Amino acid sequence: MNYDIIIIGAGPGGIFSAYELAVSRPELKVAVFEAGHALDQRACPIDGKKIKTCIGCKSCSIMSGFGGAGAFSDGKYNITNDFGGTLYEYIGKPQALELMHYVDDINMKFGGEGTKLYSTTGTRFKKQCIQNDLHLLDASVRHLGTDINYVVLGNLYTFLKDKIDFYFDAHVDAIDIIDGGYRIVLQDKTYTCNQCIVSVGRSGSKWMESVCRHLDIPTKSNRVDIGVRVELPADVFSHLTDELYESKIVYRTEQYGDMVRTFCMNPKGAVVNENTNGIITVNGHSYEDPARQTDNTNFALLVAKHFSEPFKDSNGYGESIARLSNMLGGGVIVQRFGDLIRGRRSTPGRMQDSFITPTLNATPGDLSLVLPKRILDGIIEMIYALDKVAPGTANDDTLLYGVEVKFYNMEVDVDERLESKYKGLYIIGDGSGITHSLSHASASGVHVARQIINP
Ligand SMILES: Cc1cc2nc3c(=O)[nH]c(=O)nc-3n(C[C@H](O)[C@H](O)[C@H](O)COP(=O)(O)OP(=O)(O)OC[C@H]3O[C@@H](n4cnc5c(N)ncnc54)[C@H](O)[C@@H]3O)c2cc1C
Repeated sequence: MNYDIIIIGAGPGGIFSAYELAVSRPELKVAVFEAGHALDQRACPIDGKKIKTCIGCKSCSIMSGFGGAGAFSDGKYNITNDFGGTLYEYIGKPQALELMHYVDDINMKFGGEGTKLYSTTGTRFKKQCIQNDLHLLDASVRHLGTDINYVVLGNLYTFLKDKIDFYFDAHVDAIDIIDGGYRIVLQDKTYTCNQCIVSVGRSGSKWMESVCRHLDIPTKSNRVDIGVRVELPADVFSHLTDELYESKIVYRTEQYGDMVRTFCMNPKGAVVNENTNGIITVNGHSYEDPARQTDNTNFALLVAKHFSEPFKDSNGYGESIARLSNMLGGGVIVQRFGDLIRGRRSTPGRMQDSFITPTLNATPGDLSLVLPKRILDGIIEMIYALDKVAPGTANDDTLLYGVEVKFYNMEVDVDERLESKYKGLYIIGDGSGITHSLSHASASGVHVARQIINP
């Protein structure tokens, strides 16, 4: 065998597996294969001047490369079992929390010390929310910020690079089962190993599906979250964000009983494009460094859509809606809330007259031509509900960018060791469908490494 262990994907899941193996079993021969670039080679060409929108690079530097989808993220590590994944269903709640704290300690050791850990414990907003039928979820949030997150990743890479073989721009095309292990197939080469950890994240979702088909590993999938990214003056939410940084608030709509929630809150942040399998959706992030902060706060409002038989392609449904926005807007569409509720599109002129400056160059348009009525009604209802705890949310100038889609990778059938039906083939992180966040993906990486270390 070329290696004892091959890790596919250098996102948080893969990195933390590599880290744990390197420190606990330095004698093992470990390699990481990553489809994207090395950290210092990662750069999105959108500069806002010459290149204003996504040009569909072969390897998207926002989603791929050392650090995975998390590299330019806001670096919010939510230490909680209430959201961010269902790792606890496999390994138990105390164990999942212990691993998330362990990951936090490592992040602090590698450059994150001094960053703030926020908590919902004892907050007065819980009462204020519940009085308005809004439900604040419990969490501790370590906010590294995009800048410090990058520093931590750089330090982790420096620590790992002499202990582990890294292959960048190395897309793994297939995994074959061989006698005593696995063979991974790249365009022009193959490598063999005894055990294989697959951690391919969201950008590897389609590929993961094909691997599961090829190896006959059972999967299930039936959920997609669809919505918009809201951007408003930071002052509107500052009483919440100053204390909690991120507040995960859930609301059940009166009209349909659907669940709408806030997601990925970025105080004084920026809205960005996200390219998933060639479809442009929207996301957001913010910096720890005050010099790089903006005057706006952004967060997503997402409606969870669960499908029942016979429909199975929930991600396909989300993609079709995102494609529609790409078709009408050439990418992401932006609309003022006031225009949306008056049933008219936003125009460059109306945007110009607005009191808020958008942080993403998106096409002014009409989201009601894109989002299904039920989803749009839910979002509008939640904006009015949020307006009660953060007055100003329902102002005319509040910006809505669409669409934001949270694709859920199909859930791969693995056991409590996160091992598939094949011995020594582990599937972790967002690619397994079990995690949807930095903290849970990282924790799953440590968990699997420990299963290998203590079989
Ligand atoms: C803009 C943005 C902001 C975000 N902000 C936050 C946040 O603040 N907090 C939070 O908790 N989460 C955030 N997320 C989500 C978070 O980044 C992910 O949950 C996390 O990165 C998942 O880690 P992972 O290791 O499972 O997968 P990923 O980070 O997606 O890494 C998977 C890696 O595998 C590689 N890969 C895929 N297929 C192959 C293949 N066939 N061969 C080789 N390599 C392959 C990919 O190139 C990628 O680098 C954000 C995501 C984005 C895009």
